[in-house]
Amino acid sequence: SPGTVLITGTTSGVGLNATKALVERGWTVVTANRDPVRAAAAAETLGIDASRLHHLRIDLGDLESVRVGVETLVSSLAQPLDALVINAAVYKPRLKQPERSPQGFELSMATNHLGHFLLIQLLLPDLQRSSHPSRRVVILGTVTANSKELGGKIPIPAPADLGDLSGFAAGFQAPIAMASGKPFKPGKAYKDSKLCNMITTQELHRRLHRETGIVFSSLYPGCVADTPLFRNTPRLFQKIFPWFQKNITGGYVTQALAGERVAQVVADPEFAVSGVHWSWGNRQKRGGKQFSQELSDKASNPETARKVWEHSMQLVGLA
Ligand code: NDP
Repeated sequence: SPGTVLITGTTSGVGLNATKALVERGWTVVTANRDPVRAAAAAETLGIDASRLHHLRIDLGDLESVRVGVETLVSSLAQPLDALVINAAVYKPRLKQPERSPQGFELSMATNHLGHFLLIQLLLPDLQRSSHPSRRVVILGTVTANSKELGGKIPIPAPADLGDLSGFAAGFQAPIAMASGKPFKPGKAYKDSKLCNMITTQELHRRLHRETGIVFSSLYPGCVADTPLFRNTPRLFQKIFPWFQKNITGGYVTQALAGERVAQVVADPEFAVSGVHWSWGNRQKRGGKQFSQELSDKASNPETARKVWEHSMQLVGLA
């Protein structure tokens, strides 16, 4: 049955198309963006019914903005949330120096992982108040953080690796810019943050599924090679990458199909399984079915997951 879902990052790409697919299924969507005006304009370009949308201001790179956004939401929403989609992300592979969040954290880890980690923790009580038959938290993972899939084995610039998490343990402030405490690598910072997203899903499942009944899952929607996510890559790469994914790897999916897949994981009864990382494979076939993708040891190691959870709690100020 349709409910209310909050989706982060809906000005473009997967989040915008997931918004469309869920509104078409009868859902009400709360969008969370750093610029709600741009979010409303983007929704209009896809012809999404504006009466089903609420636009909330949250800058995920700023923990204070996450707190304020959640307070605003919880005090203004008539119904509790039934589902949450963790989608927003930044990818800045060409930086020479790390950018910093207002709290002093490296900005891609701050936005993609820590802001979302806090958002989930703050919204869990609200999700628990929902009487929806299947309450869900859905996190966008990626193949590049998953060494069990082909795309995750490509070591350019370096595979995701959180090391001993000493960068997190030491407070993750300058000059530290990586969770591992090792020197800054901008492309790897994105991969590490996505690995944290997938680990968070697994740890949420382990810690909270039985107690809350909430379904926690992640997905790799396919390679959506032409979204603005790649806006900070070299121009030639932006031309070649979609072509390569369409014609060589076969991994390419349209933004509309990626949005549809997110909507399925949020809404369809087939996806009511907690702790699963959903994939449709690297080579897209027409009508291909989803399957539960086995995760790399790095993403499934319970000891790493426990540490990521505890350090993240500290870094977002909840422990
Ligand atoms: P886009 O760049 O199109 O979308 C990213 C969204 O995140 C935008 O709406 C952007 O808004 C928002 N965002 C960025 N920074 C912030 C912030 N500080 N606060 C709030 N919102 C923010 O990328 P995609 O659609 O490609 O990616 C969406 C998700 O899908 C990501 O999690 C990505 O890792 C994942 N994914 C993508 C794949 C792909 O091939 N494209 C493959 C697998 C997973 P703004 O306009 O303000 O920047």
